[in-house]
Amino acid sequence: MSGPMVRLTLPDGSVREMPRGATGRDLAAAIGPGLARAAIAARVDGAIWDLGRPIETDATVALLTERDPEALEVLRHSSAHILATAVRELFPGAGIGFGPAIEDGFYYDFQVDRTFTPEDLERIERAMAEVARRDFPFVREVVDRAEANRRFADDSLKLERIAELGDDETISVYTDGPFVDLCRGPHVPSTGRLKHFKLLNAAGAYWRGDEKRQMLQRIYGTAWFRQEDLDAYLHRLEEARRRDHRVLGRQLDLFSIQEIVGPGLVFWHPKGAIIKWLLTRAVEDDNVASGYDLVYTPNITREELFRISGHLPLYEANQYPPMAAGHEESEDVRYRAKPMNCPMHCLIYRSQQRSYRDLPLRLSEVANVYRNERSGVLHGLLRVRGLCMDDAHIFCTMDQIEAEIFLCLDQVDRLVRQTFGFELDFEVSTRPPERLGDDATWEQAEQTLQTALTRKGITFRIDEGGGAFYGPKIDIKFRDAIGRLWQGPTIQLDFQLPERFELEYTGADNHPHRPVMIHRAIYGTLERFIGNLIEHFAGAFPVWLAPEQVRVVPISADQNAYAHGVASRLKAAGLRVHVDDRNETLNYRIREAETQKVPYMAVVGQREAEADSLALRARGAGKKQEVMPVTALIDRVLAEVRARAL
Ligand SMILES: [Zn+2]
Ligand SMILES: [Zn+2]
Repeated sequence: MSGPMVRLTLPDGSVREMPRGATGRDLAAAIGPGLARAAIAARVDGAIWDLGRPIETDATVALLTERDPEALEVLRHSSAHILATAVRELFPGAGIGFGPAIEDGFYYDFQVDRTFTPEDLERIERAMAEVARRDFPFVREVVDRAEANRRFADDSLKLERIAELGDDETISVYTDGPFVDLCRGPHVPSTGRLKHFKLLNAAGAYWRGDEKRQMLQRIYGTAWFRQEDLDAYLHRLEEARRRDHRVLGRQLDLFSIQEIVGPGLVFWHPKGAIIKWLLTRAVEDDNVASGYDLVYTPNITREELFRISGHLPLYEANQYPPMAAGHEESEDVRYRAKPMNCPMHCLIYRSQQRSYRDLPLRLSEVANVYRNERSGVLHGLLRVRGLCMDDAHIFCTMDQIEAEIFLCLDQVDRLVRQTFGFELDFEVSTRPPERLGDDATWEQAEQTLQTALTRKGITFRIDEGGGAFYGPKIDIKFRDAIGRLWQGPTIQLDFQLPERFELEYTGADNHPHRPVMIHRAIYGTLERFIGNLIEHFAGAFPVWLAPEQVRVVPISADQNAYAHGVASRLKAAGLRVHVDDRNETLNYRIREAETQKVPYMAVVGQREAEADSLALRARGAGKKQEVMPVTALIDRVLAEVRARAL
């Protein structure tokens, strides 16, 4: 310890001398009254601190206001405390679990002997508003272990966490009015900072995410600095609910997941299957045109294969347990369902002598793989156990990597950006601390990925250290209609599997060399991609993907024969058509076609039948009708299908 003053370096590089022990609040006040009012927390040598925490040493300090994203996180975590304050008031015996800020909000886990109802949430929300109105300061105290145990003597969840803290760890507790919590902080200065918030829902959650521990009740909420931000967020949530692929999947009869078969295993019903088939065809056609070979490989394999690849034991938790040997095989042989195709494609590569003239060798396969995901993370089509991947592996020389990356990027551009209008977001993940292979190879590979993107005029972010242990990769995300980013294509370099499978090619120098392997998927999994598409389009698929492209609706039974004749001609032209000649009112049948989101409705009455025409209603155009010859409709829809028009 030295002198009575500390030197605080501000973001603009200027230095302020303050008395040792001065707080962020003191600093803000010294700079100006406006900042003193606006400051929410302080960044001290890179860590976020409470505004009221004394600064004891020279430091770099920035004061955070509503404009800083970190401040929003502090507000949200503080909101979790305010939520717990309110819950404790209404449910005094509630045990207190974890209460972190999360993307767009916060949650807190409570041990209570009931399930929270929507009415409970309303009461809790009112109690939170009262805690905010009373504007309790958040007061930080550092205590020793004995004191911490005393404070939380009646809360077994907190005691368990205290017991896990290391001896050298600072134990801090925070009090806001009647509530005290074990927490590292930081928090907003007082509860009055919480103004624009909403509790969203409650759900069961295992203590520490462990299904062997007790079930707690988790309450989710959201908090913002401005009312318009809260309103916009709630609107986005509402849109997301309206677009929920699980609800639309049932409504449009696209798919189901059935308890009798198991969680995370998808049944594609006829209307969903056609979408999957069209997407599969689109990517397979593109693969063939791009110089890939199509292959098919077994779904189960002796588990020895995954020992060679290294997936066992590393990846074992995500694999289904082994099954016994087949007939007439040795007793100790075990089989596994495949969780990925890469080792299989290595075996095809290895099945014959390869020369540099054979490279690049591009093997593609739209294949089902099985991953033993925990049931808690499964979510409709977005997270499943049976996945259909549009997988491919390119075996090439180091010199060929860039051209192959270009090829993959072009496919992504055609199949994802152009076809669906998605805006793409690129990230290059570089070498992690734990890795295989020498630095020179990594350096070259990372450079190649970045140069390829740059030469394509693509901007990207770098995820330093985010690569897999076997190679760097390009991750591509796409943004949907309501602004959400989804995990999309990946292009991954791999130096490791060729090594493990001892893959070789004979070079121009007549010596054996090791090829590089590129793993790439464009859609990723068909399940997740279709789940994303359902939500992106809110079930209103573009014509080329729509399970039913045209619905013919006769005005009365007198036109049934004509309607079927029109349908036959459309079918003969290759369109997907259905006639709704049910004995229901015209209005009812039109409404039905609208809720089924059929792109085109061809209404036919006496006049249309006589003129060999139809009255066309396009999806979303309301009651507007356009009378046209049958052939004109065929030309129009076919042109849209060919163009994959949006
Ligand atoms: Zn806290
Ligand atoms: Zn792979």
